[in-house]
Amino acid sequence: MVEEKKWDVIIIGGGPGGYTAALYLSRATLSVLVFAGVKAGGQLMNTTLVENYPGFKDGVMGPDLMMNMEVQAKKFGAEVRYENVTKVEMSGETKKVWVGEKEISAKALIISTGASAKMLGLDEEKLMGKGVSTCAVCDAAFFKEKITVVVGGGDAAMEDALALAKYAGEVYLIHRRDSFKASKVMQERVFGNPKIKVIWNSEVVEVNGEDKLKSIKIKSSGIDAGVDPYTTMSVDGLFLAIGHFPTTELFKSQVDLDEKGFLKTGITNGNAKLWLEGYPTMTSVSGVFGCGDVVDFKYKQAITAAGMGCQAALDAEKYLTGGTSSY
Ligand SMILES: Cc1cc2nc3c(=O)[nH]c(=O)nc-3n(C[C@H](O)[C@H](O)[C@H](O)COP(=O)(O)OP(=O)(O)OC[C@H]3O[C@@H](n4cnc5c(N)ncnc54)[C@H](O)[C@@H]3O)c2cc1C
Repeated sequence: MVEEKKWDVIIIGGGPGGYTAALYLSRATLSVLVFAGVKAGGQLMNTTLVENYPGFKDGVMGPDLMMNMEVQAKKFGAEVRYENVTKVEMSGETKKVWVGEKEISAKALIISTGASAKMLGLDEEKLMGKGVSTCAVCDAAFFKEKITVVVGGGDAAMEDALALAKYAGEVYLIHRRDSFKASKVMQERVFGNPKIKVIWNSEVVEVNGEDKLKSIKIKSSGIDAGVDPYTTMSVDGLFLAIGHFPTTELFKSQVDLDEKGFLKTGITNGNAKLWLEGYPTMTSVSGVFGCGDVVDFKYKQAITAAGMGCQAALDAEKYLTGGTSSY
C-alpha cells in the first residue's frame, strides 16, 4: 500500500534530535512526518531527573521533557506516528520508507534513531537509574561521597572515572585486561587522580540489588592458585563505559557508516565538500541528513542531540527551499 501524500521531510526517530528537527521544520511551514518508533521519546524515557538540560533550573523529569518536545513539534503541525520504520530506500530523489507493507515518501529524510549503550548481560538493566548508569556526565552528581565503579578501558571509561572523582568518595575502575586502550593523556589523568583505583584483569560477573544497587561480584584472573578469584564489593554506583550500538541496521547497505556503525555526516567525517555546500549534517546520500546519538560517537547528550537536530533541520530546509527561514 502506498500513502498518497508526499511529505517534505520524514524524520525517523522521536528523541531529542528528531523532535527538535521536527519543531524547526514544521515551524518553517514544511510538512513533516516523524516516525518516533515504539520507543517514542527515546532514551530519556528511561531516566528520572535530568539536571543538565538548560532552561530547567530545578531539573526536569526525562519523560516530561520528551513529552513537551513532542507537543511543541506537533503545535507547529508535525505529525508523529509511534511506529517503527522497517525498510528504507534513500538513493533516489524521492526518499521512501516502509512500515510493514505501507510505503510513505518524502523529498528529504532525517535519521535520528539514536544509540544504545552496551550492557554486561547480567540483567543489570533492571537497576538502571537505581545505581546503574551508562552516563557519568549525566549522573555523577547524584553520587556525592558514594562508592562507585566504572567498567571499561577506553577513553569513555577514563572520562567517566574522572567525572565521578569530582563527586564520589571512592572510584574503582575495573578492566578485564592489564592495560587500557584509552589515549595516553587520559590514562595519565586517571593514574594521577588519587581517588581512582584501578582493578586490572577483572570482570563484573554479578550485579545485585532489588530496588537499588547493593553490590557487585568481581572475578579476577591471573591470581595465585588456591586464592578465591571472586570478590563481592558493596557499591552505590555502577557505570558502564563499554561502548554503544548506534541504531543503523536499517540503513547500513545504503549510506556510509564508520567502523563502529555510526552514521557519517559532514560534521563527523570532515567532508569539506558538504561544509562548502552548506550541508554539514548531510550523510553520503544526497537529501538524507543525520543527527543525535546515531551520528555522535562522542558527546551523547540530550542537548547535543537537540542541537544537531536543529542543524539537520536547517540543512534540510536549505536543501528543499534553497534557504532557511528566519528563526
Ligand atoms: C538512562 C539514561 C539517562 C540519561 N540521562 C541524560 C541526562 O541526564 N542528560 C543528558 O543530556 N543526556 C542523558 N542521556 C543521554 C540522552 O538520553 C541521549 O543523548 C539522547 O536521548 C539522544 O537523543 P537522540 O534523539 O539522538 O536519540 P534517542 O533518544 O536514542 O531516540 C531515538 C529514537 O529513535 C527511534 N527509533 C529507532 N529506530 C527506529 C525505527 N526503525 N523507526 C522509528 N523510530 C526508530 C526510537 O524509538 C527513539 O524514539 C541519558 C541516557 C540514558 C540511557
